[in-house]
Amino acid sequence: MDFLTHALVGALLGELSPERIKNRQAKGALAAISPDIANLVAYPYLGIKSGNIIPYAYPRDFYANPWIVDHWTWVPWEITHSFLFWGLIVMPLLLYFKKPLLFGVAYASHLLLDMPSHSGIWSTVPFYPFEYRFDGWFDAWAWGAQEIFISATTVFLLWRFAAALKLSGPDLLAWPLEAES
Ligand SMILES: [Zn+2]
Repeated sequence: MDFLTHALVGALLGELSPERIKNRQAKGALAAISPDIANLVAYPYLGIKSGNIIPYAYPRDFYANPWIVDHWTWVPWEITHSFLFWGLIVMPLLLYFKKPLLFGVAYASHLLLDMPSHSGIWSTVPFYPFEYRFDGWFDAWAWGAQEIFISATTVFLLWRFAAALKLSGPDLLAWPLEAES
């Protein structure tokens, strides 16, 4: 998915979390975009390689340079988008530091949403380092402003709907080990 949709899905998940988690919407948004921190490797690298003024690669640069998926700069993205990374690194760390499960759920929402929205050679490798590619149905990562706007607005409205209905609280999505106030 695009960056904005991920963030808003995280905010929605935060909204649904217990109210006692401080800034739960912002925390959800942050956790939901965090797997794409790995983009800070391949995007600037390919941006510079493509001769862009801003060291950032656009979808057209990726389409013009399909070799990038075999380059080492692509690997961090495959790692952070792996359910094995999530299950063996992210979740144990959250448990150890007694952080709200909201972080883990929002992180997982990113991985789930990226599976259908990356196709062909751009597919996710959900169990990296095991080379199984999940071929998605479309390429939201290459979306233009209009598609991002439609997608983000839809999720934004869902979020505000949940907020208006006050769907939050300990009854809904109550994380049993939630320790943070
Ligand atoms: Zn992603």
